[in-house]
Amino acid sequence: MTPTEPTDSTPTEPNPTDQTEADPTAEAEVAFERELLEAQWLLPTLGPGVTGTGVAMEAVIRGLEVLARQRVEEHLDRPGAVRAVRFPPVNGRSMLERTDYVASFPQLLGTIDVFTGDTKAHRRLLADREAGLPWDGHLHTSDYALVPAACHPLYAWLSMTGNTAPAHGEPNGDGGGQPETRAVVDGTVWALTGDCFRNEPSPDPMRLVSFRMLEFVLLGTPEQALAHRGAMLELGSQLLRDLGLTVSVEGANDPFFGRAGVMLAKGQRAAELKFEITTQVYAGRDTAIASGNCHEEHFGAEFGLATDDGAVAHSACFGFGLERIALALARRHGTDLTTWPARTRDLLGLEQA
Ligand code: ATP
Ligand code: MG
Ligand code: ZN
Repeated sequence: MTPTEPTDSTPTEPNPTDQTEADPTAEAEVAFERELLEAQWLLPTLGPGVTGTGVAMEAVIRGLEVLARQRVEEHLDRPGAVRAVRFPPVNGRSMLERTDYVASFPQLLGTIDVFTGDTKAHRRLLADREAGLPWDGHLHTSDYALVPAACHPLYAWLSMTGNTAPAHGEPNGDGGGQPETRAVVDGTVWALTGDCFRNEPSPDPMRLVSFRMLEFVLLGTPEQALAHRGAMLELGSQLLRDLGLTVSVEGANDPFFGRAGVMLAKGQRAAELKFEITTQVYAGRDTAIASGNCHEEHFGAEFGLATDDGAVAHSACFGFGLERIALALARRHGTDLTTWPARTRDLLGLEQA
């Protein structure tokens, strides 16, 4: 999404006046998807926007992960400066409240329904199914939800680490309440690849419902967070250029929901909190393939994270969209890896692929 384009993350009504006019971008999206399916880069499954990745695409994604982690380690130049962790695609539903996702992006979230009934309730469910009726009414929303951004579970985990300090300016509570402490963060760069869910099905293979994000996340002082975001945008752009893509870095905003969201988006852009690395997969339209975000105190305050002087931690994350980068490379170099430039193959360790 370029800064000037409207978001296409919510389904829009077809415009009746458009019926005779072919949309060249939509045609290009459909043609690209067909090419990817034919080459078995994408493996279709049952849901729109849900695909598996074939042998070649998976080799590219694996290469990207290794290359990006190596480059970040080289950049930090301190042994152990990057710490790799992994979280599953499911988290507690309360995370959607604690991160404000339910307030900001209700159109994108997904919770998980479960069946907890007895045999009688199951028989009623089966009767509906046999009658061809919807059976999902027999389920109810569980305490679990799908993770929409790879970094979210990290904040929850860090808040539970034992290394705590008194919160800045607040005395330690003693008379019965929980001590007012915050978990200490120290500028470590956390590396994590996470499966993300966003309810934004689209004919565009660049916009999936379930996709992987490789994130490099730092929690620390405001200066550390800002410097991390800047360095990652630079490192990320260089890496993508080295692979043969033409990219640019643009100020951006998230698709905050509703009327209030317009103001939030403007504020985010004015404060320069989000930048995207974009490339032209379709002529005349930029697609974000990575983004660098500063959250200021947003997560630090909610999850009780502090620097060692007790001040609320700032956070910044940089995310590579792994499928989007692989597909942008397929668009640039074709789906046959053997014909890719030697340098690209070498950087991605594709000699065996
Ligand atoms: P867009 O503006 O295209 O909706 P975004 O701002 O929502 O992207 P971020 O939330 O910054 O994206 O996520 C980080 C990266 O994850 C993006 O730069 C992109 O590469 C990738 N990404 C985001 N949404 C999708 C999606 N629906 N399908 C595939 N990759 C995605
Ligand atoms: Mg989006
Ligand atoms: Zn993030």
